[in-house]
Amino acid sequence: METQDRHIPLRKCIICGRRFPKPELTRYVCSGGDTPQLIRDDKGTLPGRGFYVCFDEECGKRFPKYKGWRRKCQGGKHGK
Ligand SMILES: [Zn+2]
Repeated sequence: METQDRHIPLRKCIICGRRFPKPELTRYVCSGGDTPQLIRDDKGTLPGRGFYVCFDEECGKRFPKYKGWRRKCQGGKHGK
């Protein structure tokens, strides 16, 4: 029972697909709307769909070019 509190959730880096403890990732959330943007969520308190990127330099470089989040952002309700 007392070990329960120490459990650190793992989140997957959307770029490299590796899993990391949540505190080791940068969280971004989708702003939603017609032209969704990613907002960096340093405090981890913003509501909405979260995306996680690890601190790997390579992932940081690839992240701005990563477009997959847009589709996820719209939650599959796009009409095209
Ligand atoms: Zn990564």
